[in-house]
Order: sequence, then structure tokens, then C-alpha cells
Amino acid sequence: MAVKFRDYYEVLGAPRTAPAEEIKKRYRKLAHKHHPDVNPGDKTAEERFKELNEAYEVLSDPDKRRRYDQLGRNWKGGADFTPPPGWESAPGDSGDIHGAEYSAGDFSDFFETLFGGGRGAHARRGGAGFARRGSNVEAEISLTFEEAHRGVTRKFSLEAGEICADCGGNGSKNNKVCASCRGSGSVHRLRALEVDVPPGVRDGTVIRLAGQGEAGSNGAPPGDLYLRVALEPHHLFSIVGNDDVQIQLPVTPWEAALGTKIEVPTLDGPVKMTIPEGSQGGRRLRLRGQGLRRRHGGRGDQYIQLKIEIPPTLSAREKELYGKLAAESQFNPRELIMGGGR
Ligand SMILES: [Zn+2]
Repeated sequence: MAVKFRDYYEVLGAPRTAPAEEIKKRYRKLAHKHHPDVNPGDKTAEERFKELNEAYEVLSDPDKRRRYDQLGRNWKGGADFTPPPGWESAPGDSGDIHGAEYSAGDFSDFFETLFGGGRGAHARRGGAGFARRGSNVEAEISLTFEEAHRGVTRKFSLEAGEICADCGGNGSKNNKVCASCRGSGSVHRLRALEVDVPPGVRDGTVIRLAGQGEAGSNGAPPGDLYLRVALEPHHLFSIVGNDDVQIQLPVTPWEAALGTKIEVPTLDGPVKMTIPEGSQGGRRLRLRGQGLRRRHGGRGDQYIQLKIEIPPTLSAREKELYGKLAAESQFNPRELIMGGGR
């Protein structure tokens, strides 16, 4: 069957000689841009996103990349392609971590032809005795606001199926049902994993770890692990809208009345900010570009809502000064609501 050749280097905009690090960088940049979350309902972006994932699936895996490169450089994207004589599908994936990827969609027929029903929607299915791809596993990863903002490498452990070492996944040993796995061919084991969370993930973002799901049976590849980000609530920051954050900032009555320059916490640490003279309680001030990372690049804003705090206790001297202010001031905030106005 002829399928359409895919130029994975072209898809990622990377030269054929690009080192793994560059492949990863280009993929991340483009995946951010074309992610379905930021292009809701955009079919073109969705297709592009799938292409990117497929290209990265191949070029980020040294074995797959080597095999792909064997096809030579004369193929053009979209050309009719049949695998060279003697081409065999690669055996199941070794299941090494590819780093953080977003949830992937289906792979093309081209991919399936080259790498044979490896991953994605065209998983091999079959009854007992057939090679069957391992199940996908879903898990949750809890991140602080700061980790989600900056990105983080997180170690965690996960209980998932592994091929039974005693019977090699056959389920039987010496013509007896394997005692270790009770014939299922797989055992549950706690595995130590590591995920490279890219900066700017949000609550609900799904990160895919290829090949880290349940083990496949009879040599079939393992499933994938989907990690859903759960953002821990922050004591200070809350998210408003899509990309903005807000904090409440306590100020004294005299700071609000006279204006001041004070330090304000942001996601990237404290910054100096001017509180203008005559600021009312509840006023929202804006720090441009201090909000969450946008998928297209750039940042949202941070809002600072002022909260005027009265000292809980007053010294005799403070009372005296407040008293002087009360005697001196002509300001009547109830003038309008009490009908005393003109
Ligand atoms: Zn066993």
C-alpha cells in the first residue's frame, strides 16, 4: 500500500543534522504554538499538532530516527511511499522516557507503515495469545503555582504493569501457570519515573509520557502514561481570566493616602511598585507582563488589589494623631449617601 511520505525534519523545521536537544527545542516551541488548548476548534492547528507529535515521536527516539534516516534524503513530503524491500517494522519500544510531550493524537499511515502499529490510536488489538499493546495509564501530578510557572523536573513513582520477569510475559513456566503473575504475564510494580514539566502548564494540562503505561503482552509495545496537572491553590495568587493573576495587597491608610513605593510579590519574585497618592481600598493596579505564560509566547498581567488595613491596636500617641487628623479633616465620605450634598 502506498502512503504519503512525511518529511519529519521539515515538520519540525530542523536540519537533518540537528542534535537531539535542538529537535526537542523546536518541537516544544511549535507544540506550544499549535496546541489544541490555545486553538480551540481550529482543525488546521489540530492537524499540525498531530504532525508535530508524530515527527517528534520519531526524531526524539534515536532508534526510530536512525531507521527513518535510512530512507535517505531524496524523499519529498507528500510523495507516494512504499517501504524498501526487506523493511521490517521495529520491535516494540523499549519504553524510555521521551521527556514531556502533550497528548498526542493518531499517527499517520506513513508512521504505521514504517514503525508498525506502535503507538497511538492504531494500537494492535487481539484476543488471548496475540501481541497486544499495553493499556494507557492516567495519573495526576500535583504542582505548585511556581512549579507550573517555571517548569520543573519531578520524580515520582507509579504502580503500573510490567512484564513478569519469571515467565518473560508468557504467563506460564514449565507448562504450569506462572506463580508470580498468576498467568497474566505482567506484574504490578512501583516504578520510579521522572517527568520534565515544561514552563507554563495549567490546571488540567495533560502531559504524555510515551511508553510509560502498562506493559504490552507477547512483545507488543507498552501503553503511554498521561499525567494530568493538578494545580495546588496558592495562598497569595489567584488566576483571573485566562492568563492573568491577582493578589490582594494590604496597605496602611497613610500609604494609600500619601502614596508610596513598596515591594510586591510576583511569580518571579518581589518587584518595586508605586502606589499612587490617594488610592482607594479595592483599587486594582496592574503589573504588565507579570502574569502566566501564554502558549503563543508572552505573559498575562498581574493585578494588585489594594486592601486598606487599620492597625489592630493603637498606641496613645497614635490615637492622639488620629484625633488631630479627625479634627483637621473636612472630608465626609457619607456626604452623598446621606443627602447632605448640594
Ligand atoms: Zn509470570
